[in-house]
Amino acid sequence: MFDKFHEECGVMAIYGHPESAKMAYLGLYALQHRGQESAGICTASGGQIHCHKAMGHVADIFTSAVLETLPGRSAIGHTRYSTTGDTVLLNAQPFSVSCNKGRLAVAHNGNITNAAELREELGRRGSIFQASSDTEVVLHLVAQSSERSLAGALRDALLHLEGAFSLVLLAEDSIIVARDPHGFRPLAIGELEVKGGGKAHVFASETCAFDLLGAVYLDDVEPGEMVIAGPEGLRRERYAPEQRLAQCVFEHVYFSRPDSIVFGRSVEESRENLGRLLARECPADADLVVPVPDSGVAAAIGYGDESGLPYRQALIRNHYVGRTFIEPSQAIRDFGVKLKLNAVRHLLEGKRVVLVDDSLVRGTTSRKIVRMVRQAGAREVHLRISCPPTMSPCFYGVDTPTRGELIASSHSTEEIRRFVEADTLGYLSLSSLRQAVGDERGEFCYACYTGDYPTELVQIEELAAAGAKRR
Ligand code: AMP
Repeated sequence: MFDKFHEECGVMAIYGHPESAKMAYLGLYALQHRGQESAGICTASGGQIHCHKAMGHVADIFTSAVLETLPGRSAIGHTRYSTTGDTVLLNAQPFSVSCNKGRLAVAHNGNITNAAELREELGRRGSIFQASSDTEVVLHLVAQSSERSLAGALRDALLHLEGAFSLVLLAEDSIIVARDPHGFRPLAIGELEVKGGGKAHVFASETCAFDLLGAVYLDDVEPGEMVIAGPEGLRRERYAPEQRLAQCVFEHVYFSRPDSIVFGRSVEESRENLGRLLARECPADADLVVPVPDSGVAAAIGYGDESGLPYRQALIRNHYVGRTFIEPSQAIRDFGVKLKLNAVRHLLEGKRVVLVDDSLVRGTTSRKIVRMVRQAGAREVHLRISCPPTMSPCFYGVDTPTRGELIASSHSTEEIRRFVEADTLGYLSLSSLRQAVGDERGEFCYACYTGDYPTELVQIEELAAAGAKRR
């Protein structure tokens, strides 16, 4: 049994730094939004790989005492989010092993769509799996490769994989990172001055990690490329032939931080563009523009600029919400959303409001927020979504529910409007989404909006069934 088809994650790697574990820790701290379930760091020193991983948030897991147990000049790190029932520590990354290619640790972001098949095949040949995560499959493929060099064995392994992966591998004396040939998930390359001379190589899912470290963003790992950082410096090598590019557009719509450069492009810029185009396509006769924080903020700013309507933060988010809440026995309506958000009556009373959010998935949260805005006195609520209707599940590493739970897969915009109880509802068109992210050459994946998957999904039915069972 494999564990998931939706796993959002952040990865980080650093080579050639005397405090590599601390740097990885800081990087993961900046990537926390990409996964809050578990985190792990592995370092290499003296022919050993040292690992620490645990459930929870980066800042809680990595105390000074823990970081002291992670010596060495190279490190990889991972932060994981999974909504599946299978939230055991066993699945936390990185995975480390000792095999015929030496001591290794691997972590990845994305979803390997043929992982179940590969597991079965490897299992028949005698591989024993500890966990149900895809990453382990990569390690077994590396171990079984007849290639003598580690880079050769990894190349061999990667060529067996289908789907989405941005991967970081730690060996005793090098780090290798790679992106899948479609380039679904991001992976940036940076450089960091080391006190006392020299430079460390850094890699991260998003450039916001570099900013915290004081590293300079240089480039992206190319789709189908492997980058090796070792004693001889940096070596870049294409391991797979060019394929149709399919960078995840949802990274720009929602997932990445706005202060990051993702796929070589500012996320904030994309989001403001989304809002501007949304204002042109779906104008509203209203008094003010209000974002759903934090996801709708940049698009609402763009909407406000384009429409000339004042932008007001009339929903306040509590940033300190934990994982579990003690609810009074007398149930409070919409308790979960109320814990996270509250409306500013002073701004909303008697107003016609354009409410901007980045996406509408099931519609249940949006409905609660629309209600909250209305209860705070808004006269009209015009909901605007800065992407097209989400019709199809993602099989490449973004957490979306099964098709049946995606409200837009079976309901018209008018039906959804009624469900969320908005006065009007407007979505951005696909062509405007393309324009907003500057995709002139068709280099993004829009499968969640179109159902047009850029790879063959052999197990699509099986995956969907597994998802349905868990939720
Ligand atoms: P709902 O109205 O229940 O469909 O929820 C929509 C909200 O979920 C929006 O505020 C989105 O920002 C947020 N959202 C969309 N996709 C994701 C995701 N993959 N993970 C977490 N939140 C998401």
